[in-house]
Amino acid sequence: ALGCALPDDSDKDAESLIRRAQLALKTAKSSKRIEVYRPAVLDVARQRFMMETELRRAIERDQLSLVFQPLVSLATGKVAGFEALARWNHPDKGLIPPNEFIAVAEDCGLILPLGRWALDRALQTLAAWDAASHCALPLYMGVNLSPIQVVRDDVAAMVAGALRTHRLAGTRLSLELTEGVIVSDPERAGRTLEALKACDAQVAMDDFGTGFSNLASLQKLPIDVLKIDQSFVTDMLGDPDRIAIVRSILSLAQALGMTTTAEGVETPELARTLAALGCSTGQGYHFSRPLTADAALAFALTSLG
Ligand code: C2E
Ligand code: MG
Ligand code: MG
Repeated sequence: ALGCALPDDSDKDAESLIRRAQLALKTAKSSKRIEVYRPAVLDVARQRFMMETELRRAIERDQLSLVFQPLVSLATGKVAGFEALARWNHPDKGLIPPNEFIAVAEDCGLILPLGRWALDRALQTLAAWDAASHCALPLYMGVNLSPIQVVRDDVAAMVAGALRTHRLAGTRLSLELTEGVIVSDPERAGRTLEALKACDAQVAMDDFGTGFSNLASLQKLPIDVLKIDQSFVTDMLGDPDRIAIVRSILSLAQALGMTTTAEGVETPELARTLAALGCSTGQGYHFSRPLTADAALAFALTSLG
């Protein structure tokens, strides 16, 4: 029997390497094959499973929260809305960013309860802002929808229900979907988007330019906003190729009767340039990082005057 172990960054001494080689040898003796101990692979699988269990618990124990990032009109400089972004406040590990747990949630189906929770909490927050201001504020809420939700959940009924619960007009809600939705099942995507439009909600194509949606379906679907992915925006100045991409997305949007939101606006120069190019809305650290609900309302009230 033959068992081997490969050294990796976690090796502090030869002993741990030998211990793993012995473990591989033990496995090899029973499997009658050559076994290589690959701690990284095992750890990834184990960590993912642990994260799944913990995420399930976090949802039950209400350890997820939302932060709100301003969406600012580039023409007026006033806030037009907010995007709700999920955060996981882990008791030991601290704040875990969504890029680490949304994919896990999608893999194990937890994205369905998580997505429902995010929509409900976002609209509840917007309704609370209205109540505190004694009026319907001229603000909309952007909520992300995973392609998995579109395929496996009744998204239209969920949206209609949440709007009813919080007594909000559909126009106050913008649903952010990625191109993956169109690519995986264009027919279902079409039906879902039509149903969302029937609730008066806006539909935004998130991370636009990174997926592979074809222009024909883009034109057929009831999409209101193209959100230009930050990879084209953030380092755009001084990069003629990226400026060309942004310009062509802007003219595509115009031709199709859609508005545009640029993600990743980190500097005042970028905000100015994008405004001059005709982009309607900006989102990024230049305006504000994502804020807690209270800070977001204060930001909006200051901006709206
Ligand atoms: P996204 O929908 O494209 O959201 C924009 C992301 O860009 C956010 O990251 C935001 O914090 C970040 N961002 C904003 N301005 C800037 C900037 O100026 N520079 C840079 N470098 N980044 C900026 P975040 O909050 O980490 O979220 C990451 C992704 O996780 C989101 O990308 C979205 O796809 C997903 N996500 C977050 N919340 C939810 C949720 O409730 N449901 C679903 N399905 N996905 C969510
Ligand atoms: Mg988004
Ligand atoms: Mg995006």
